[in-house]
Amino acid sequence: MQFQSTRDPSHRLGLGAAIARGLAPDGGLYVPDALPRADAGTLARESSLPGLAARLLAPFAAGDAMAALLPAITADAFSFPAPVVEVKGGEGPLSVLELFHGPTAAFKDFGARFLAATLERIPRSDPRRLTILVATSGDTGGAVAAAFYDRPWADVVVLYPKGLVSARQEKQLACWGRNVRTLSVRGTFDDCQRMVKEAFVDPALGRDLLLSSANSINVGRLLPQMVYYAKASLQLWRVDGRAPNFIIPTGNLGNALACVWTREMGLPIGEIVLASNANVTVPEYLRTGEWRPRPSVATLASAMDVGNPSNMERLRWLFPDVGQLRGRLTAQSVSDDEIRDTIRRDYSALGQTWCPHTATAACVYGRLGARRADERWVLVATAHPAKFNDIVEPLIGADVPVPRALAELLALPSVQTEIGPTLEELRTVLRGGA
Ligand SMILES: *Cc1c(COP(=O)(O)O)cnc(C)c1O
Repeated sequence: MQFQSTRDPSHRLGLGAAIARGLAPDGGLYVPDALPRADAGTLARESSLPGLAARLLAPFAAGDAMAALLPAITADAFSFPAPVVEVKGGEGPLSVLELFHGPTAAFKDFGARFLAATLERIPRSDPRRLTILVATSGDTGGAVAAAFYDRPWADVVVLYPKGLVSARQEKQLACWGRNVRTLSVRGTFDDCQRMVKEAFVDPALGRDLLLSSANSINVGRLLPQMVYYAKASLQLWRVDGRAPNFIIPTGNLGNALACVWTREMGLPIGEIVLASNANVTVPEYLRTGEWRPRPSVATLASAMDVGNPSNMERLRWLFPDVGQLRGRLTAQSVSDDEIRDTIRRDYSALGQTWCPHTATAACVYGRLGARRADERWVLVATAHPAKFNDIVEPLIGADVPVPRALAELLALPSVQTEIGPTLEELRTVLRGGA
């Protein structure tokens, strides 16, 4: 299989090279030139997540050096579970797909770990250590740091906006040390992102360092996210004899796109409903047919604060006509007030504690009315509520127990360097050595 750019189809590469490159040379995103058909019956016999991952992803690596490496990569990457848990006391069959059992308690651990496990094994022409530069508004930086921590062939440099992430997110960014360096930038997330982009085109840095990005548009972060949709849908299909519907908290559309690809491969997935926060670009596009990206607005579900979701380019490549897309998925917007109400309501009615992102999906579920009784719905839980305790605990009037992996990170001392928002200062830190 080949991967091609969403823009110029003559830019084509095998999977390993597409992951190593990240972005196509024309600025487009890599997409598989055709989505393979999966045999659900064969996949259903794979009981382990790494085993299912290796089998599901094998066609994407066919003909590439990555094919032989895939079992080792998936064993390394899928080192924590993605359970689908039944919710009792609702209006109908309801499940939660828990994607927060990784080291930093959010689903981005899946993509970041797969990317690190892949880069560790695919052949590289340049033998120098990689320097992974990542700008983060909260969750991505921690997941990337955790995934690359202590891998001797890489250094990680994380940039985050000082004072603009939650206290526990900051801890997860600054607790690493060794080959991870955390920079607290006096500026905004946009400053951090600009500094990373400038560093990539800086000739002096290009001579000294082999820079790489762990950006969320890398196809190496998307493919592993298909695995938990395959696992959950097969499991529920076996129980119910019909395909479950998924409600997915959505920002940059990566997690949602992975679910769409999984269904296109033939896995038993019914409806796909996207839950957006007050950033309405996607729901509005589906309603009006007009694509109007805009600056993001800040919400309680901050990891979904995206006004110009980059994976839309992949979705529109697959379904160029908005009418086609409308037949494949729907999207709804949820306000901050509704996020708060949903967290309160489901804590008392169902005994469930949602993070603010997962709460957008729970809110959309609440709007389904009678349809809740007829079909199985799966809420995709993208982060553990303990990560957002400052928002969640006052709403439910109780402490959120901290999962063990997260508690271990929070107990570590913080190490970080504060810098101003300029390439100059970033360059000084980077050239100071690992
Ligand atoms: C990143 C993130 C999202 C949004 O996922 P996309 O793939 O960007 O749509 C939702 N919830 C949490 C907790 C996240 O970290």
